[in-house]
Amino acid sequence: MKVATGTSILRGIAIGRLKLHRKEAVETSRTSSLAPEEEYARFQAAQKAAQEQLGQLYEKALDEVGEDNAAIFEIHQMMLEDEDYVDAVKGILDSQGATAEYAVTATGENFAAAFAAMEDPYMQARSADVKDISRRVVNILTGTGAGAVQGDEPAILMADDLTPSETVQMDKSKLLGFITRGGSANSHTAILARTMGIPALVGVDFDESWDGQLAILDGCNHCVYVDPAPELLAAMEAKRRADLEQEALLQGLKKKPNVTLDGTEIQVYANIGGVGDVGLVLQNDAQGIGLFRSEFLYLDGDDYPAEEEQFAAYKRVVETMAGKKVIIRTLDVGADKQADYFGLDYEENPALGYRAIRICLTRRDVFKTQLRAILRASAFGTVSIMFPMIISVREVRDAKEILEECRAELKAQGVPMGEVEIGVMIETPASVMIADELAQEVQFFSLGTNDLTQYTLAIDRQNPKLDAFYNPHHPAILRMIRHTIEAGHRHGCWVGICGELGADPALTETFLHMGIDELSVSPAAILPLRKRIRELDLSRPAASEPLDGA
Ligand code: PEP
Ligand code: MG
Repeated sequence: MKVATGTSILRGIAIGRLKLHRKEAVETSRTSSLAPEEEYARFQAAQKAAQEQLGQLYEKALDEVGEDNAAIFEIHQMMLEDEDYVDAVKGILDSQGATAEYAVTATGENFAAAFAAMEDPYMQARSADVKDISRRVVNILTGTGAGAVQGDEPAILMADDLTPSETVQMDKSKLLGFITRGGSANSHTAILARTMGIPALVGVDFDESWDGQLAILDGCNHCVYVDPAPELLAAMEAKRRADLEQEALLQGLKKKPNVTLDGTEIQVYANIGGVGDVGLVLQNDAQGIGLFRSEFLYLDGDDYPAEEEQFAAYKRVVETMAGKKVIIRTLDVGADKQADYFGLDYEENPALGYRAIRICLTRRDVFKTQLRAILRASAFGTVSIMFPMIISVREVRDAKEILEECRAELKAQGVPMGEVEIGVMIETPASVMIADELAQEVQFFSLGTNDLTQYTLAIDRQNPKLDAFYNPHHPAILRMIRHTIEAGHRHGCWVGICGELGADPALTETFLHMGIDELSVSPAAILPLRKRIRELDLSRPAASEPLDGA
């Protein structure tokens, strides 16, 4: 038995075989030694396997996010059978004596370019889809990439690192957990894994020879046991069963209010990274969505998502939430969330750089496309907009002015829109200090404690070496939270927390004593948080006073 340690991002146990995820560039040799009809047979076999994968993805999405949202996988299945697409692949095989992988890659690129050049936004969006299906087929043909990740058996993935978009795209039904060499417990990848309830460890110095071996990922003890001793395996299986029983108990809390013993009620909302997470939100009985990290719509593709594409995504989330509040955070790219097509310059300190609202206020075209899409979606439910990384009143006024400009344009076009509540994220020390002024501009505050901790403690949340120093319980952070709540309430703003700290049961009582109105947490944390809230009695003095001492 071998043991390796790392930093856990979710308390939980996964037991299964390890699977190595190598990020090799897919080398596709152009000329084949096989006859064109043999290459065509290889293509057809891969096409069939891809169809099966897509069928499984469709079924899974159907369960989690409903029919409308799952439809994308049916579209992919149809595209894969499209006569023009298949003819183009065959044409390259016959005329060039090429390998199937080369023919599929070339066809995917040609079709993607043709779609991208079309006027109709719906057709333009098909560009990413045709690339996606082609990549899927090539991965199957070469046994690499995402196709390899989604093997037949569920596994614990071992990877050097995973980007947020890779994590979003993964078929979670095949993912028991993951361990990565790099990454930090506070990165977006970690947050996404937590949102999806996937046990994971980052910063693990694993050995590639472990590929295929049985392992236990123990998120409670921050370690992975490879080829575990039978006694340990039995003990951990028992622990996992106990966890599942606890989970069943928590399910009993569904539909119960988030109310303390003395009758104080607060809102518990969910954080999501995309449309695919809405199923989890509903399963875990959240009262709304407190943070929709809209930037993942941008990180998923190779180009700016068009207004239509964004509108479709926001509308889907808003409609699925059926009148419950959906707070869409405007684009927060930059820092650890990079998309090449933005063409952002290299920066020495990207976390302090050109990101989030700073990009939006200087790239008005990009910002307006998003705001128009959100305003249009507001006609289908209850939508709020919140601006990230705010440091001044001027920024809020400018953002609101651009929003009003979009509203006026849409109104002139006769486009229906709903009322939209406006808020800001309080995630910089500057915004805390001017909370009184900011509160007069907006209807709500949402405390982004991940960045607030980073900027207050001067600790890069991406740097795994600093995880031991990254202390969101620091009295400086807690006093800032209290200050923000008081300032918000003075001016009639409601105040919530959407950073990871909101889910920390050790602080729930403190937050409630401070008067917090809402906590927005990953879907998996909703019911444990409800349990904690329902155990508390605020008429009694708090058990401890974490604001004291430094
Ligand atoms: C935060 O900073 O706490 C937050 C919620 O935003 P993100 O983690 O996406 O930066
Ligand atoms: Mg943030």
